[in-house]
Amino acid sequence: MTAKESKTSGKLVIISGPSGVGKSTICAQAVEKLEAFLSVSSTSRPQSDSEEYGREYTFLTRDEFKTKIREGAFLEYAEVFGNYYGTPRTPVDEALAAGRIVILEIDIQGALQVKKQRPEAKTIFILPPRKKDLLDRIEGRARGEDEATKKRRLETAGREIAMAWQHYDHLVVNDDLDQAVQEVIDIIQEKIKEQI
Ligand code: 5GP
Repeated sequence: MTAKESKTSGKLVIISGPSGVGKSTICAQAVEKLEAFLSVSSTSRPQSDSEEYGREYTFLTRDEFKTKIREGAFLEYAEVFGNYYGTPRTPVDEALAAGRIVILEIDIQGALQVKKQRPEAKTIFILPPRKKDLLDRIEGRARGEDEATKKRRLETAGREIAMAWQHYDHLVVNDDLDQAVQEVIDIIQEKIKEQI
């Protein structure tokens, strides 16, 4: 690793986990405590009533998303549940160049793409303590999703969990929220120490 790479890629952290595992809550708390930069992804999926443009995502049409793919605007992108999701490249690079910890909350396909380009990135996968918890949370979320989408989220969760063992640096079980947040923070701080 060159000095430049360690400076620009050393603080990149990827957090993944199945739908409903609580990763957004964990990320938000870790971001606050670490004063990290949380990347806001773009997506072509519809915005739900509880979401705000530019907060959870920047919501684009499929055509707008495809144009940005062609322009090379994404560090990574993937199709998840039939919609595009991607990480805008520029804000991530700017935050890394400013020496900040950057957290990407993205799926496993995106994580693998980023790891290829930036092998120093640390990957953390959040696991549910029990399959039933995941089921209840996906059912309980007020997103107005149809049964087929919920079923797909659960099936994908099973596949992703199986792959996580192979591909991620750390697995964190979200049984107790505070403990899971602390574990994520400890992993990130340990990583920063490695870079010094
Ligand atoms: P949701 O529709 O529940 O907000 O997100 C669905 C999935 O897309 C989640 O697993 C989430 O982590 C993933 N995701 C969100 N943003 C990105 C992104 O920028 N890139 C990739 N590859 N996945 C993303």
